[in-house]
Amino acid sequence: MALLITSKASSLEKLEVLGMASSYDVCAPPSVESLRGKLPGVYFAWSSGGRVSLLKTLFTNQCSRDCRYCALSSLVDGPRYSFRVEELVDLFLRLFEKGLVQGLFLSSAIPSHPDDTMERMVEVAQRLRKREGFKGYIHLKILPGTSPELVKKALKVASRVSINLEALLESSLQSLAPSKSLRSQILPLIPLIRDHFTTQFVVGIGRERDFHLLRAVESLKNRYGLRRAYFQAFRPVPGTPFEDRPPGSRTRQLRLYQGEFLVRCYGFSAEELVDERGDLPQQVDPKTYWARTHPHFFPIDLDRATYHQLLRVPGIGPKLARRLVTLRSRGELSPLHIEKAGINLRKSGPFLLLKGKPLIRGTFPQRELNLNL
Ligand code: SF4
Repeated sequence: MALLITSKASSLEKLEVLGMASSYDVCAPPSVESLRGKLPGVYFAWSSGGRVSLLKTLFTNQCSRDCRYCALSSLVDGPRYSFRVEELVDLFLRLFEKGLVQGLFLSSAIPSHPDDTMERMVEVAQRLRKREGFKGYIHLKILPGTSPELVKKALKVASRVSINLEALLESSLQSLAPSKSLRSQILPLIPLIRDHFTTQFVVGIGRERDFHLLRAVESLKNRYGLRRAYFQAFRPVPGTPFEDRPPGSRTRQLRLYQGEFLVRCYGFSAEELVDERGDLPQQVDPKTYWARTHPHFFPIDLDRATYHQLLRVPGIGPKLARRLVTLRSRGELSPLHIEKAGINLRKSGPFLLLKGKPLIRGTFPQRELNLNL
């Protein structure tokens, strides 16, 4: 159905299309990823060393699958392009040498058997690593249905891999993407990529509640060392079978990012964060919601609070909680040092005491009740 063009277009023309098409694969929360570079296919993400600019592209946009929400599916007409392995290696090196990109995020549509494309993607990474001596960040998207041998090869050359779960129930995935299967093509690969992977969910089109998504994050982190989950609010694409469906909520997407962080890094459980319907509250961030619905937990005293108790205070994250515990152990936690330590008194003050005394007038829950929040 779709027209395949591989030879006539230049590398940059291909990048224009394949880089744009890769925006459906998320490599950072929207606030970061929206800071795109001026060149097509250049995006930003976070690594342990800070923000990095990535060449983020598909290897090909030719696809034999029929995912009903996707602009690249076999159900939708449009021009199709594919890189050749050497062409993509060369393009990346040119951009890298000019200082325009620091790493590579490579995903792909699936024109035939997933191994055929995955093999080429792995080859790009192998040539960069082994022949060109590139030591920077390489992220490879594992295509559903890839053979375990190729997954192992990908792990040897990639800094990080990811696999898109997209939905949590086989029935949900079937309604979105009839030719994909959680049971046979996706879940069996997760133990192979443990401790190295991220994943992505499409939200606003399946039947999953926020609770189910956060619970999945919790269990993937505990069992398989999930590094991060990304959430993509469903966007109806003209020409697809789902073009008339309403778009997913951006607020829900934001709340899921916040909830995911609390589950993965702050020790919250999915159950604690959701309302009686199993969804995150939309009007307020999930940590503030939790604090407001647990007045018996507050105020807590900085003089005695554990690291994990501090993490439950709105406005206090892991870094600040660690700093507060260290300052206290050195006897340096006095009212004079509080703001210097980084505590936002307006946000965190109502929830805290120091040596039995409120940090600000009107401590939670009285202050919250007075303000009728
Ligand atoms: S596999 Fe599905 S989601 Fe991926 S490119 Fe093909 S049609 Fe789109």
